[in-house]
Amino acid sequence: MNIHEYQAKGLLRAAGVPVSDGRIVFKAEEAKSAAGELDGPLWVVKAQIHAGGRGKGSFKEASAGEKGGVRLARSVAEAEEMTKQMLGRTLVTHQTGPAGKQVNRIYIEDGSEIERELYLALLVDRVTSRISFVVSTEGGMDIEEVAANTPEKILSFSIDPATGIQGFHGRRVAFALGLEGKQVKQCVDLVGKLYKLFVERDAEMVEINPLIVTDKGDLKCLDAKMGFDSNALYRQQEILSLRDETEEDSKELAASKYDLNYIALDGEIGCMVNGAGLAMATMDIIKLYGAEPANFLDVGGGATKEKVTEAFKIITSDPNVKGILVNIFGGIMRCDIIAEGVIAAVKEVGLQVPLVVRLEGTNVDLGKQIINDSGLNVIAADNLSDAAEKIVKAVKG
Ligand code: GDP
Ligand code: MN
Repeated sequence: MNIHEYQAKGLLRAAGVPVSDGRIVFKAEEAKSAAGELDGPLWVVKAQIHAGGRGKGSFKEASAGEKGGVRLARSVAEAEEMTKQMLGRTLVTHQTGPAGKQVNRIYIEDGSEIERELYLALLVDRVTSRISFVVSTEGGMDIEEVAANTPEKILSFSIDPATGIQGFHGRRVAFALGLEGKQVKQCVDLVGKLYKLFVERDAEMVEINPLIVTDKGDLKCLDAKMGFDSNALYRQQEILSLRDETEEDSKELAASKYDLNYIALDGEIGCMVNGAGLAMATMDIIKLYGAEPANFLDVGGGATKEKVTEAFKIITSDPNVKGILVNIFGGIMRCDIIAEGVIAAVKEVGLQVPLVVRLEGTNVDLGKQIINDSGLNVIAADNLSDAAEKIVKAVKG
């Protein structure tokens, strides 16, 4: 689960990490008093969406000369004007995709004078199975670009969980970032606090881009992105309360309410599969036959008829779906339950696209019979490649 920048900064501030003072604004009328509470003479007006690249992004139907989703204002009136311009409009960045995201919240921040822009992130490194700091002197711009063109400018340090964070980790980070004097001590403090916050809150990712050196020579976090382990949210009530469902894919949100493992993708073939491994294999084989999956969906081992119905509804609600492949190996899951779920769903939402069903395993005969007796226009398949070939053919002709 991701949160907004202003929420992440709230967590950072509470942890004693240096961030600017700021106010969140939901309505244009609130902008004037919010900006007025900050010192000036510089204000930063920042669109809050769950995506990066806002500064270089652009609004849909932007007028000439209009800048991106992060703007500098020289007065309260200007900050108010910019807030009015951005609220309610759709911001497109390299992370939102062409559809963009509607801006419903604006963060107005006390502006900082920047001496240097650095990059600092914490993440769970799958290679070392440890929490790692990823740092670079090339902050502020697209870190993806730095990674592609000058990967030697990105350094990473992993933390041994047995010892936890130590002073030398902070000094290494400081050295890698070219910090000096009092900044080294500030960096050791920052790194220690970020690590503690990361662990305590079950974070998956913290990205500070840019981490700046101010004109006074102090470190400060100017941007903050945080993501959290969804499986740990049961014990992170405060984090859970920061959830903004309007930022999430509506299909993924519905799926999470029914405890379905669903991820929306860009293709045209909707998949309903049980087991993550089989789901991956199904996606692969769809690609092998020349089409693209519209989603990853693992209905799980102990799915009920209701869950299957819901899964089917989520798949059919995606306008990109031109065909559906149900691929079930009945182990714990029984084929007849799947068959009943599919039929219940089709009766409820209708079936506008071809449907291929491949069932194997427990109660397979009963499952096939239920589908045959339903009178639905279902294409039966016997194995994985047969199923993939049939659905791709049905969709692409
Ligand atoms: P992002 O584009 O979504 O990553 O948003 P950021 O919060 O990183 O802001 C984009 C850029 O705006 C930063 O890299 C800075 O160059 C600039 N910026 C943000 N806050 C300030 C500020 O307080 N003062 C100045 N001078 N520039 C800022
Ligand atoms: Mn940034």
